[in-house]
Amino acid sequence: MRAVTVTPGVADSLELVEDQPEPAPEEGAVLVEALAVGICGTDHEIISGQYGEAPPGERRLVIGHESLGRVLEDPTGTLQPGDLVAGIVRHPDPVPCPNCAVGEWDMCRNGRYTEHGIKALPGFARERWRIQPRFAVPLDRSLGQVGMLLEPTSIVAKAWDHIERIGHRAEWQPQTVLVTGAGPIGLLAALLASQRGLAVHVLDLATSGPKPDLVRALGATYHSVPVDQLDFEPDVVVECTGAPSVVLDVMYKAAPNGIVCLAGVSSGGRSIELDAGALNRALVLENNVVFGSVNANRRHWDIAAEALRRADQLWLGSLISRRVPVSGYADAYASGPDDIKVVLEFAV
Ligand code: BGC
Repeated sequence: MRAVTVTPGVADSLELVEDQPEPAPEEGAVLVEALAVGICGTDHEIISGQYGEAPPGERRLVIGHESLGRVLEDPTGTLQPGDLVAGIVRHPDPVPCPNCAVGEWDMCRNGRYTEHGIKALPGFARERWRIQPRFAVPLDRSLGQVGMLLEPTSIVAKAWDHIERIGHRAEWQPQTVLVTGAGPIGLLAALLASQRGLAVHVLDLATSGPKPDLVRALGATYHSVPVDQLDFEPDVVVECTGAPSVVLDVMYKAAPNGIVCLAGVSSGGRSIELDAGALNRALVLENNVVFGSVNANRRHWDIAAEALRRADQLWLGSLISRRVPVSGYADAYASGPDDIKVVLEFAV
């Protein structure tokens, strides 16, 4: 069968292979026909050779971690043939650490977790894949065109879960949210903020293209000015750019008791000047919390599936800039200027 693969660590080794073996029964009882995979920055990092790890004993890695498929068979009876499903990306470490032991693989402490299409587990960009029922998340039938957005939504569902847990350290009545970066993660973070009834502001460099309208369609306010020029102090910031200056600016900008969730992965290697003492003073004197957030556990995936079901399907559909058939895979993995989410389609 066909699969999109790379040789991790080797730049531009992206290849559509035709002779990928069928998924091994050990991969899980649920056999799934791939419908689509979403493409994100992590895929681009893997393709450029900077990230990613093949399964033990293999040279190549099937990529794709934002999945949408249709169940072909599930002998356990957990899912029915025809059900829409997405596969959870991360699996717990084998030790397991205290967090993985209780299903919090998103908080793995020893780094020995594995991730489909990223770290030591084959990804979902192959015509058929298998998954254990506990890593298979069912999707409402209405999400047939956009269900591959579940994985990025799980990331922001986890971010919001942790923001709320931190918020409840004291009386907490947040009103204003700032999301920096209007890519898929930023827009989905803004969607979840709007579902919470908060006043949502999204900041991005783009002044044209689809982003401003997508933000306004959520009832949110779009800004393309530097963070320090905003005329409000957000109670919550979800930082999705990973751009060093934006990361620092939002830490200063947060309101008293403010929470800054860092959800963007920076590439590193660029230094900027920082008055660490002034930053420390600003954070301490205002009880601010800055925390990082990555990945998601089963609970977050289920919350995300419900958030997507409640969202406007047309709005979700307009996050998808391009749908490329698998035969045109090279095109799908080349990013275009106005791309938000590019999706590689298998069976449709
Ligand atoms: C994925 C996460 C993963 C992270 C680090 C992200 O692109 O969405 O599931 O944990 O990369 O590998």
